[in-house]
Amino acid sequence: MSQTETPENETYDSDGQRGPSTSRRNFLQLAAGAAAGTVITQYSTEISAAFEQVTNGELDVVWLQGQACTGCTISVLQGQYPSLEEVLSEFRLDVTFHPTIMPEAGEPAIEAMSDEPDVLIVEGSIPMDIPEAATVGTTADGESKPMVDWVMELAPESEYVIAVGNCASFGGWPAAENKRNLHDLGANITGARGLQFEKREERGVLGPDFTSGADLPVINLAGCPVHPDYVLLTIATVLNGHVPELDEYNRPKPFYEPLVHDNCPLRGYFDRGEFAEKPGDEGCLIKTGCAGPYTYCDDQSRLWNDGTSVCLNVGAPCIGCMEPGFWDRFAPLDEEIERQSFFGPVTAEQAGWAGLAAAGVGIGAHAVRKATGYGSFGEDGEQPTSTTDTQESADERTSDEATKEE
Ligand code: SF4
Ligand code: SF4
Repeated sequence: MSQTETPENETYDSDGQRGPSTSRRNFLQLAAGAAAGTVITQYSTEISAAFEQVTNGELDVVWLQGQACTGCTISVLQGQYPSLEEVLSEFRLDVTFHPTIMPEAGEPAIEAMSDEPDVLIVEGSIPMDIPEAATVGTTADGESKPMVDWVMELAPESEYVIAVGNCASFGGWPAAENKRNLHDLGANITGARGLQFEKREERGVLGPDFTSGADLPVINLAGCPVHPDYVLLTIATVLNGHVPELDEYNRPKPFYEPLVHDNCPLRGYFDRGEFAEKPGDEGCLIKTGCAGPYTYCDDQSRLWNDGTSVCLNVGAPCIGCMEPGFWDRFAPLDEEIERQSFFGPVTAEQAGWAGLAAAGVGIGAHAVRKATGYGSFGEDGEQPTSTTDTQESADERTSDEATKEE
């Protein structure tokens, strides 16, 4: 890719060949704080121009699937972008390889795959202990070629590598511990990992030091599935040669900064200590497994299905699918989650002290929440009345359930 990083809002036409419609904007920066859908609507011409670089053959995109349910592909295909419909339809056909949507099949499909993609997108986790659990094509010996081999070959040759969904980012549910030992299988029997992370550790397939041609780690677009806007705007941004600003888990900050708990429509119930005891009850859903206090994404404002709704708007607790460690960290998904932090569980009292101490040394409340992994404190630093009394909860747990904490 021979592109030039340009200042925000500057039209890129330095080669005089692409015309004025190829403004190379950083759509991720524009998305930060913008109302749902406005960036996509307002900049549809520029977004189209970014994707046209693929459809006109300037840039190559490869999309691989490891241990995936294809839900992330479906999510992206279902994205509602009337103003971009035509270019996205062409883009889907011009991705040099995508096992679900490309028109070719078999050997021609493999041959169509670029071996030096500008953008490599991976959906699904990568099985390391049983590599043949996810394969595509064949090796020179005629054996099925494991996905790990494809990733190790293509990622270093790619300008940008994007993991879509929690599986490719952090391992997702294929990496789950199988705490209840269903079918007498052990934990994570395929050795599923994300591209650069395994849960919260940088033990992914590519290792912690991997950087792509653009000198970036894998860009993680977590979610189960991923939000279609996250994929659309991230691809359009990197196709324009921009470097996304990433958080500590390599997720683009504009999408993964807001705390679900801070923007929840049920927050009033939480603050008043009114909790639903079972699904369908009125109240905050923390007792029915809500992971909103630990989960960062802008879904509460962005919404899904063309701005229609989101989990908490329809009585479904947040299950934490944007976070590393989902699924084990929040499972069983319908039971109250033990308080947790990166360093172990924190009690309300400890959390309050953390908030007050941080205020004393000038650390922002957001940084405190990130550090403790605990989402919200009252104005005075005390946790509002909550049913998550640590001792009481712990007494009620079986030893198996207690392993929910990491
Ligand atoms: S992240 Fe979820 S939706 Fe996407 S492939 Fe994995 S299981 Fe399917
Ligand atoms: S715990 Fe969940 S349901 Fe309750 S306010 Fe927070 S995000 Fe909303």
